[in-house]
Amino acid sequence: FTQGGCLFTANDDKQMNSHHEWLATAKDFELDTRIIQKEELEQQIGSSASRWLGAMYTASDARAEPHKATPAIARAASREGAIILTACAVRGIESAAGNVSSVVTEHGTIETTTVLCAAGAWTSYFCRSLGIQVPQLRVRGTVVRTAPAAEIMAGNLFDDKIGIRRRQDGGYTVAHGSSLDHGLTPATFRFAFKFLPALMQEIKILRLSIGGDFFHELALPKRWALDAETEFERVRVLNPDPNPRVLKGIRKNLDEVFPQLANVPLVESWAGMVETSPDVVPMIGEVGDVSGFYIATGFSGHGFGMGPGAGKALAAMLTGVDNSIDLEPFRLSRFYDGSPIRPMSTI
Ligand SMILES: Cc1cc2nc3c(=O)[nH]c(=O)nc-3n(C[C@H](O)[C@H](O)[C@H](O)COP(=O)(O)OP(=O)(O)OC[C@H]3O[C@@H](n4cnc5c(N)ncnc54)[C@H](O)[C@@H]3O)c2cc1C
Repeated sequence: FTQGGCLFTANDDKQMNSHHEWLATAKDFELDTRIIQKEELEQQIGSSASRWLGAMYTASDARAEPHKATPAIARAASREGAIILTACAVRGIESAAGNVSSVVTEHGTIETTTVLCAAGAWTSYFCRSLGIQVPQLRVRGTVVRTAPAAEIMAGNLFDDKIGIRRRQDGGYTVAHGSSLDHGLTPATFRFAFKFLPALMQEIKILRLSIGGDFFHELALPKRWALDAETEFERVRVLNPDPNPRVLKGIRKNLDEVFPQLANVPLVESWAGMVETSPDVVPMIGEVGDVSGFYIATGFSGHGFGMGPGAGKALAAMLTGVDNSIDLEPFRLSRFYDGSPIRPMSTI
């Protein structure tokens, strides 16, 4: 966990004004966010700063390596008594007298009266089999890692062209600043109305396509037997291919924004499904008619940062111990009770 700061650059007055508007929100959460001008930006990232007017800067923002942080958190949970089962798909839940009574996994049944479904991009599909509509869509993000290279900045930077952060191994993790893929699926049409505001907000960066994803989802069963293999075992890890066109764009934009890295090889690429809600805010709470069944999903492109805090709030929600964090604003029903749907962030 390294506090290297985070920069959101501004190309023009419009972006600068929007950063200024964010300052009020940052202040509400007691963050040290401030606007910096070109000169101060230059001290942080050198001559590349000349392309921007300035940036919104949060010095206390941090980064961590996901492949190290997540197992470390799991080990810490185990030390506290948590039992973690891996390679063990949950097929469904069972209920008795209106309450959850067990979780059925591929390796057997676990009796319990409380279940939290935090299944990431699978949550909507899982919940649909229980008759619960969770408006959630998948957006593919493509990312690369560079070989170790000279330090051009200590923290993270986000711009229309690239999102970049320094890695512990001396390289950089780099994403495209304005390109996300959404393969249209039946869920897109089912939830289209609710996602319209988010779609309008992201229209410039979303690349919509229709193809295999649509027909794959169309062919999936909506309900299934709990004593036979399910989709969760067939696709054990959701691991989409990186988009080659986006990879080319990342290389081009990286070279343009940081010419110092132009000869540094891109040594690895990968992609993942960002799962988002209509207002780009998580959906958390008890759902459905069976009591004891909860969800925590829709963390969008921000769940790695929010995860530890969300986990603490979820533990409090489920145990009733130290539950001073009000999770009511995250309720799923906000999408069904007439509340206005306004995206609160970018995907
Ligand atoms: C390309 C990309 C870049 C990102 N960058 C950032 C970033 O810079 N900062 C940030 O904060 N966030 C980022 N995110 C978002 C972040 O990764 C997610 O928000 C976060 O991982 C969500 O955590 P989660 O626990 O809700 O879901 P997940 O991490 O998806 O975990 C859900 C788990 O449940 C498992 N599961 C699902 N169904 C079943 C089942 N039936 N039985 C058993 N297990 C099941 C899945 O296999 C998975 O392991 C990024 C995401 C992507 C794809």
